[in-house]
Amino acid sequence: MTPTAFITHPDCWQHNMGAMHPESPDRLSAIRDQMIASGLDQYVDSVEAPIASRENLLLAHTDEYIDDIHAAVPERGITHLDPDTAMCPQTLKAALRAAGAGVKAVDLVMGGDVRSVFCAVRPPGHHAERMRAMGFCFFNNVAIAALHALEHHRLARVAVIDFDVHHGNGTEDILAGESRAMMLSFFQHPLYPYSGTKPLDDNMRNTPLPAGTRGDAVRALVEEKWLPALEMFQPEMLVISAGFDAHYEDDMASMALVEADYAWITARLREFADQHCKGRIVSMLEGGYALSALGRSVVAHVKALAGI
Ligand SMILES: [Zn+2]
Repeated sequence: MTPTAFITHPDCWQHNMGAMHPESPDRLSAIRDQMIASGLDQYVDSVEAPIASRENLLLAHTDEYIDDIHAAVPERGITHLDPDTAMCPQTLKAALRAAGAGVKAVDLVMGGDVRSVFCAVRPPGHHAERMRAMGFCFFNNVAIAALHALEHHRLARVAVIDFDVHHGNGTEDILAGESRAMMLSFFQHPLYPYSGTKPLDDNMRNTPLPAGTRGDAVRALVEEKWLPALEMFQPEMLVISAGFDAHYEDDMASMALVEADYAWITARLREFADQHCKGRIVSMLEGGYALSALGRSVVAHVKALAGI
């Protein structure tokens, strides 16, 4: 059995918010290049992301919002939805592939074809709220994946883990109060989007961390808070918002993680998943803007997912 699948799609390269925008197609190229350079591409099962259906999107968004996003696609050039978040003519296709990747990933792990999946897709999703695009995000890929596991596959409980350096306000907006989901996250605070210090509901475990936080503090958090919370909750699948912008080389924020920290966090989550949820992990790319660090960190993460 192939242990780990790697999902992406050429359409995800086509979304372009302008030459100077940090959330650029070069991010996926950096990941692809490092996967090949490390030889890891030989060990994963490559799968193309399908287009998400409207039914998939409706798990996390309203009909009206989905219509608005479709209507906002420009015929040419770039349309801004907020100062950071813009659409080009190919953005919708990329966003539908990104959301579809998570749905496909859940189907693959539930089908037993693979134990874990990494989705190298963009646009990212964790800032997208039920009715608002923001922070480079349009559809909330991770929330859609988690809700697909709950609704379509009838899992009783799913845990969402968000280690992006920014607070996943969109995922919290969508999943707060959903008793079948628990969300565990750390994020630098204060930092965009300046939310998360007061969790919206009891199923949210938010840990704001100061600038300069290093890997040892994050590892302690995982050991002392996250793993005991997961033990209590007993999820049947882990869905990870895998942002790599807490890396010390990443100028988007000021935390100081390194590849070894991402490998360690992932290995601990994989051990938990192996013991408690049949190894089921769906991980989706969020942030990570220092291209070399992003490529290296994703390789460390995927290696740890695959247990190699
Ligand atoms: Zn981020």
